Amino acid sequence: MRNKIIAGNWKMNTLVNQGVQLASSINEYFSNIKLAPHVKIIIGVPFTHIDACTKSVDFTKIAIAAQNCSQYEKGAYTGEVAADMIKSLGAQYVIVGHSERRQIFGETDSIIAQKIANCHKNALFPILCCGETEGERDDGSYFDVVKNQLIASLALTDKFNILRTVIAYEPVWAIGTGKTASPEQAQEMHEYIRKVIAEIYNKDIADQISILYGGSVKPDNAAELFLKDDIDGGLIGGASLKKEDFIKIYQAI
Ligand code: PEP
Repeated sequence: MRNKIIAGNWKMNTLVNQGVQLASSINEYFSNIKLAPHVKIIIGVPFTHIDACTKSVDFTKIAIAAQNCSQYEKGAYTGEVAADMIKSLGAQYVIVGHSERRQIFGETDSIIAQKIANCHKNALFPILCCGETEGERDDGSYFDVVKNQLIASLALTDKFNILRTVIAYEPVWAIGTGKTASPEQAQEMHEYIRKVIAEIYNKDIADQISILYGGSVKPDNAAELFLKDDIDGGLIGGASLKKEDFIKIYQAI
């Protein structure tokens, strides 16, 4: 059975004390819940919050993710944070290749491939984001765009490590815009992503990979998305900053 995953992405929000408060209140809710072994709750926090947040949650229920890592392993890279540093703070996942990093910070698929390799080297699970822009949806190239992102970003990932990777389909036009892909649009792409993973690796592997949907997931649209066969959960931005919304989205799965 594939893992069902609800992952929050706080982006560059909250001060450390506010983040700890949010993580603690989410933790309090889950302390009374018996999670099925294949259900994973992840919160993606700023680097500055990782240490305090890992100490504020029960790691058997809630995993902490970083939102990025360096493509380099160590050395003279001022301002960068290496995968092993993230691991040493107790995080278990890293969001890699988010469209904001691709668009604002110029991350290419080959940089993303290196970041994923660094995560795997350090026993961190990368959450690889992929997705097309509005223009690419409109001009009909969206399947090719996502396929090319996957092939190039996974260039350094072998059959062993792909099973330690989560994929998040995040159409750029749906991120933070309030426009959500319809459940049918999302399912169509998730099914396609699984097919591409089967082509790169094999069908058995593709069937085991969790593919999350991200893009304006809210309590009122989560259930219809999560009902689709190939949607294994969500990567949640804005709504993950509100405890009640994040919990309602978990309840939807
Ligand atoms: C995201 O940034 O990963 C995201 C999905 O954001 P939002 O839910 O706010 O659209």
